[in-house]
Amino acid sequence: MEQLSNEYLNEAIEDCRPYAVNGNVNTSLPNFDDTLRDKLGVSIMTTDQNVYSAGNSTHCVPMQSTAKVIALMLALHDFGKERVFQAVGMEPTDEMFNSIGAIESHDKVKPFNPMVNAGAIAVCSLIKGGNNDNRFDRYLRFLKQITNNNELAMDESVYQAEIANGARNRSLAYFMQSTGALIFDVEAALDLYFRINAVMMSCDDFARVGLLLARDGIDSTGKRLIPPHHLRTVKAIMMTSGMYNSSGEYAVDAGFPCKSGVSGSIIGVVPGRMGIGIVGPAIDKKGNSTAGGALIKKLSKDLKLNMFRTE
Ligand code: GLU
Repeated sequence: MEQLSNEYLNEAIEDCRPYAVNGNVNTSLPNFDDTLRDKLGVSIMTTDQNVYSAGNSTHCVPMQSTAKVIALMLALHDFGKERVFQAVGMEPTDEMFNSIGAIESHDKVKPFNPMVNAGAIAVCSLIKGGNNDNRFDRYLRFLKQITNNNELAMDESVYQAEIANGARNRSLAYFMQSTGALIFDVEAALDLYFRINAVMMSCDDFARVGLLLARDGIDSTGKRLIPPHHLRTVKAIMMTSGMYNSSGEYAVDAGFPCKSGVSGSIIGVVPGRMGIGIVGPAIDKKGNSTAGGALIKKLSKDLKLNMFRTE
């Protein structure tokens, strides 16, 4: 078994960087172009307080779909598991994350799970705070506590791009309103969804989200931020649905909960052991970082992180 160290991570990054050639940078995001293709960074924070990083680990990208993890934590905290899963399903899907057909054909007329766009928009309607400024403020304060990073902020140009490119998400939200799946203010849910997608984070920040989950809700200062039973739910949903419609593949080849975003970000959680943050902007057709995904699988193999292994 390899030993976790900065040297090991440097080599792992160089082994996996070439996989970027199999992906494309999502140029609908502001400042995202092909010059980012070869960027790849990783941070790992262990439950025994060690921090390792390599590559472009300080490069910040918008959270995009990794925000769905935080939104789910807050909604579970605010309304509880029963109410949240009245609004959204628990099942994986082999449809794309922004599929319209998936919500229409779903027999219970609710989104498959909180990790697809429709599900996350429904989850956003279950975050308390009165108005959207307050709700987003709560989101950001929670994220700052988790990451121990007071500098975190939404990037205005990314937020504006989410609004400008939001036709598909609006369609999902209004369709859900028509079926009764989304009973709260549709525009408010969409606006909160657009904002949380636009918060900028580095590998360290993503790793600290993973670490909170790995430590069952205890932050770096030893304070409990969220009850462990909610995080069990979040980790299970990440495992079954966090890597879009490649989640089964990652359950088999990585064997620990992960969540990716189309900015090339990945949060990994090895319960009781570590949080992993990865940024590698070239993504495959399903939305997962190609080099980042290769790195997740390599770390799992080399460091024996698969939770289903018995030897
Ligand atoms: N802003 C993207 C969308 O809503 C995020 C998707 C993603 O990262 O999966 O379509």
